[in-house]
Amino acid sequence: MNFDFSPEQEQIRRTIQEICRDFPNEYWQELDACRSYPEQFVDTLTQGGWLAALIPEEYGGIGVGVLEASIILEEINHSGGNSAACHAQMYIMGTLLRHGSEDQKRRYLPAIASGDARLQAFAVTEPNAGSDSTRIETRAVRQGDEYIVNGQKIFISRVQHSDLMLLLARTSPYDENNRAGNLSVFLVDLEDAGDSVQAVPLETMVNHETNVVHIEDLHVPIENLIGEEGQGFRYILSGMNVERILIAAECIGDAHFFIEKATEYARERAVFGDPIGKNQGVQFPIAAAFAQTEAADLIRYKAAARFDAGHKVGPEANMAKYLASEASWNAANMCMDTYGGYGMAVEYDIERKFRESRLYKVAPVTNNLILSYLGHNVLGLPKSY
Ligand SMILES: Cc1cc2nc3c(=O)[nH]c(=O)nc-3n(C[C@H](O)[C@H](O)[C@H](O)COP(=O)(O)OP(=O)(O)OC[C@H]3O[C@@H](n4cnc5c(N)ncnc54)[C@H](O)[C@@H]3O)c2cc1C
Repeated sequence: MNFDFSPEQEQIRRTIQEICRDFPNEYWQELDACRSYPEQFVDTLTQGGWLAALIPEEYGGIGVGVLEASIILEEINHSGGNSAACHAQMYIMGTLLRHGSEDQKRRYLPAIASGDARLQAFAVTEPNAGSDSTRIETRAVRQGDEYIVNGQKIFISRVQHSDLMLLLARTSPYDENNRAGNLSVFLVDLEDAGDSVQAVPLETMVNHETNVVHIEDLHVPIENLIGEEGQGFRYILSGMNVERILIAAECIGDAHFFIEKATEYARERAVFGDPIGKNQGVQFPIAAAFAQTEAADLIRYKAAARFDAGHKVGPEANMAKYLASEASWNAANMCMDTYGGYGMAVEYDIERKFRESRLYKVAPVTNNLILSYLGHNVLGLPKSY
């Protein structure tokens, strides 16, 4: 087994680190304070082609693997930044790439790759369905050569900084015997949609442009149905392993941020005449967070490498997201403890990253649902739903 990175992978890591140096913690703090979108940062990444990492070269992207893409997001979070502002531009297009027609790919992928069109809104979650996406109620009814869509979504991120939105909607009634077979996925042009798609910002504890989305008599042309009607849930699921691996990498980046901050602080902060890091009560949690992060990282690399080699990676991708989000949350708490009261002072940046890292235990899927997946699908235990 080879655990070394290739020179190209090392180069990607160094380049992203250099880009991130131009966006120091003060940049993210200011945006956080006024809940603004990191336009300049996202533009810089877009111009460098980094958000098009997973788009094949024939459609204008860089065409690297998930492992390389995950290094990009890891380094953003490691630097103190927040990939969540733009990570979806990297992977939402996977549904289009894998299941769209050649005409749809030619129509949209080059524009997404160049950044002329942002596809970073992904509308699945609904208030009455929650984690059970097969229960969504947003309805798409075929009328001639278009679908008329009505419904409501919640927690839909980046809509206001997106030109396109991937939408999961019901195209036939819920059927207990075919729970995944009645949903379809559409690519919605938000400019064409006009007032029929209304995004109402939802304030959360993180600077994460997320919204309640009201959809009223939205007309979607049939050429914007992705793949076959009724197969949408399967198409969405097929992209989730990539999403989980990339999210795991962001968590690993966060964990390293916390571990480095804590180590540095524990070396420098002297109380009772000695650096606090001399005390095992301070030192051991840092060392434990480091060990936990390294272990989670191995599963993340295994998942990414196996995915890029064309293998099925459901268990590995789920375990990577679970272990990495638990490792980063543990590291966040450890760092808060190491900093004492100063961890809560905004200028040290620990409290912002603390809030941001907490999200990964919940979204894009809760860790309970990941454990359910492992329990049912890997260990063969009875289903809770
Ligand atoms: C900031 C933010 C951004 C988001 N962005 C997006 C987005 O862009 N697009 C999108 O579609 N969604 C998005 N989401 C939604 C997110 O994916 C959901 O919040 C998440 O999947 C959980 O759904 P829920 O909040 O309805 O929780 P619920 O489904 O109501 O679950 C509540 C709790 O019960 C637990 N639970 C439920 N059923 C079971 C069970 N059978 N076994 C064990 N535990 C169970 C859950 O694990 C959870 O802990 C975002 C959420 C947040 C907070």
